[in-house]
Amino acid sequence: MRSKSTPAILDFRRRLTRWYRRHGRDLPWRRTRDPYAVLVSEFMLQQTQVSRVEGFYHRFLARFPTVHHLAGAAHGEVREVWQGLGYYRRADNLHRLAQAVVERHEGRIPAESRVLMRLPGVGRYTAGAIATFAFERAEPAVDTNVARVIRRAFHPRARGTAGQRRIWQTAERLVPRAGNPAWTFNQAIMELGARICTARVVRCGECPVRRGCRTGARAAGM
Ligand code: SF4
Repeated sequence: MRSKSTPAILDFRRRLTRWYRRHGRDLPWRRTRDPYAVLVSEFMLQQTQVSRVEGFYHRFLARFPTVHHLAGAAHGEVREVWQGLGYYRRADNLHRLAQAVVERHEGRIPAESRVLMRLPGVGRYTAGAIATFAFERAEPAVDTNVARVIRRAFHPRARGTAGQRRIWQTAERLVPRAGNPAWTFNQAIMELGARICTARVVRCGECPVRRGCRTGARAAGM
């Protein structure tokens, strides 16, 4: 069972989601809960910037509109539509994943992260992302952006495997229990890591969670 949310956690969530509602980008995969479309976006977004992914996302879905279309496509066809996006292993994994979903799950993408993690190319982050962004499950999705925000805000000294474990534990405590708020929170923390608390520039002065952030408070001498 999850521990009770502390006032600090509640405050962090509230400030972050309020900021996201005002400033979050309107991205095509945020307008859908279609698990297949969310899955395609997640594979494309691995190691690739949002601005580059948008065009490919629409093109891919136009050519392979469902998991069945993708599962039945030839290997070369999938690679051809992926061309220009790079990291072709993602395309191969996505193709194999579609085939596995058709063979093992009657074409329905599973909602549980432990089941998702048995599919090709799906690690802990992607499983959490599909569960929360497609099915509004109250699960964390910790990619490099989210890990950076949590590290800076709660565990500035966290390093290595033990640090990663702490970050995931904190992410679990931060995610609201209800579906839609969990979806919004996970999008919001990802957005903060992509735009405010980035790897190269740390914009603490514009950050909505600065008050509850260990790094931000230290920088401001609070
Ligand atoms: S206050 Fe600064 S370090 Fe903390 S989360 Fe915001 S941008 Fe990152």
